[in-house]
Amino acid sequence: MSILSVRNLTANVAGQSILKGLNLDIKAGEIHAIMGPNGSGKSTLSKILAGHPAYEVTGGEVMYQGENLLEMEPEDRATSGVFLAFQYPLEIPGVSNLDFLRVAYNSKRKKQGLEELDTFDFQDLVEEKLDLVKMNASFLDRSVNEGFSGGEKKRNEILQMALLEPTLAILDETDSGLDIDALKIVSNGVNQLRRPDNAVLMITHYQRLLNYIVPDYVHVMADGRILRTGGKELALELESRGYDWILEEELQGV
Ligand code: ADP
Ligand code: MG
Ligand code: MG
Repeated sequence: MSILSVRNLTANVAGQSILKGLNLDIKAGEIHAIMGPNGSGKSTLSKILAGHPAYEVTGGEVMYQGENLLEMEPEDRATSGVFLAFQYPLEIPGVSNLDFLRVAYNSKRKKQGLEELDTFDFQDLVEEKLDLVKMNASFLDRSVNEGFSGGEKKRNEILQMALLEPTLAILDETDSGLDIDALKIVSNGVNQLRRPDNAVLMITHYQRLLNYIVPDYVHVMADGRILRTGGKELALELESRGYDWILEEELQGV
């Protein structure tokens, strides 16, 4: 079953063309990795999928589970199972992590026609999930991400993901700035959430993440398009050869 289908997507940011005809197909059960040089539009793609208002789609189509994603409000996308873990997770002073998670969780339940969980039931549920990311319950009482270390923020995002059980999880450089222990915890969290009816899109600069979360497909993105798609071995080749050879082959029309 198709989870995401992106056709000829073009988009502008601040009046500048960033995505220049991007195609991507993700089916249920698959893990896709997008790699590519800085500035190629990877984060732009993830923000467009999440519905960030600063990014203007100028052409193309994005279908999510058979629905036109671009016509859905950002909130609807989230409650319909699209989850974006940001490259730079937001801090929300004054809002406890527990309340934040509960609101997000309950809005998804509401959308599914289920009853909302009260604070006590929700607390029980979260505590079960804390183990997955090796987080201490004291994180629940603190303001969202405020004063969290880089690794703690990333683990907090995986906690959100574990609660929301997204159909399409988009992880934008979730591995950047993680030490090896945090990387293993985050990867383990993602792997445990893997199911035949959901999919993961990982954006990463580093091959090492892909040692822990093994992708079905690796895409190379440059200058607003996907230039090449391969299996997990493509990531190894990129690690040793860099990106330039792909850009050169593209120019030569290989
Ligand atoms: P990547 O994630 O692949 O490194 P980005 O999608 O972050 O690339 O950026 C692609 C291009 O779009 C860059 O040239 C970047 O400067 C520009 N860009 C991204 N977001 C904005 C923004 N909010 N305002 C202006 N330019 C932006
Ligand atoms: Mg970047
Ligand atoms: Mg980026």
